[in-house]
Amino acid sequence: MSVWNELTGQPEAIELFRAAAGGSTQQAAMTHSWLITGPPGSGRSNLAYAFASALLCRNGGCGVCPDCRQVAARTHPDLAVLATDRVIISIDEVRSLVTSSQFSPSVSRYRVMVIEDADRMVERTSNVLLKALEEPPERTVWILCAPSEADLLPTIRSRVRSVRLRVPSASDVARLLQRRDGVDHETAERAARESQSHIGMAHRLATNDDARARREETLNIALGIQTVPEAVMAAARLLELAKDDAEAITEERDAEERENTLRTLGVEPGQAVPMGLRSQVKALEEDQKRRATRSLRDGIDRILVDLLSLYRDVLLLQLDSELELINLAIEEQLVQVARDTDPAETLAIMDAIAAARLRISRNVTPALALEAMLVTVASPQRKATL
Ligand SMILES: [Zn+2]
Repeated sequence: MSVWNELTGQPEAIELFRAAAGGSTQQAAMTHSWLITGPPGSGRSNLAYAFASALLCRNGGCGVCPDCRQVAARTHPDLAVLATDRVIISIDEVRSLVTSSQFSPSVSRYRVMVIEDADRMVERTSNVLLKALEEPPERTVWILCAPSEADLLPTIRSRVRSVRLRVPSASDVARLLQRRDGVDHETAERAARESQSHIGMAHRLATNDDARARREETLNIALGIQTVPEAVMAAARLLELAKDDAEAITEERDAEERENTLRTLGVEPGQAVPMGLRSQVKALEEDQKRRATRSLRDGIDRILVDLLSLYRDVLLLQLDSELELINLAIEEQLVQVARDTDPAETLAIMDAIAAARLRISRNVTPALALEAMLVTVASPQRKATL
């Protein structure tokens, strides 16, 4: 058992971090500031915490000792984490992290500072971090994560060692779900394909019936649209699905976070929160409320990505491509749509989906953007039935 078993599809990166955490024989392998880049779902933060475990555990990241378990729960005394679901990391958050990076480790060899979304800092905030990266104390290690190097200021980039992750293959992700979560082969393969190798989403689709049902309904709604009024109604239903999905994710995470906070404050489960600690719990709750907006937007985007995968499959069928379908489970329906429409129409729908994503990211009302997109879906099929 080891923390490295929790990862998949990144053998080179794992080797690099293992060597770095391995100890003093390979001085050159270790450095104080790291940047892990890779697309969402490639396992950036999983790798960051595996490396943190390897640095903090006495057995190089065994996965079972108290150190490793505390890293997994994000409660290790020598681990500081900055993870945010908000759009921007505040300068105060980074300031307090920088301050705590100055302390010596209390129980382990190192003090490890993780920033999960280092791309969400404005320049002024990055500059606060820059000073800390320039002269880190000897036993402090920074691990930053971001989608790509280009998302950080050049001054930050030049002070970190970059490790780039690739998108794991669907079979890599399926194997991880089988090995780590005990998911059966068929479900794991399907979830890995349908999530397009996004590890977190694949896990959710494989283990959460509601999430799976919502994805199926999303695709069925699009496939069922034939008229413009139907498109308008479909937009409303898709929005509801996105809301439900976002709420389910938010609830799971909020509950877990609240539990962790209470534990950190020394409040036992089920016990009332003492008066003096209530303000801290309240601050957390307000933070969670603020995040809800972002989470809905992510939910809508997930739906649009799923729809894009649907028409990508239709296009592959129309072009007689040999590539594997993402939505293999509804192949028959896809073949039907591919026959009833032509590639130009499919491309027009894919363009409309891309446009909807862009418009929503620019704060166009989601309902309007979805309606406009689904009307495009209605046009070719309407022509076919007329
Ligand atoms: Zn351990």
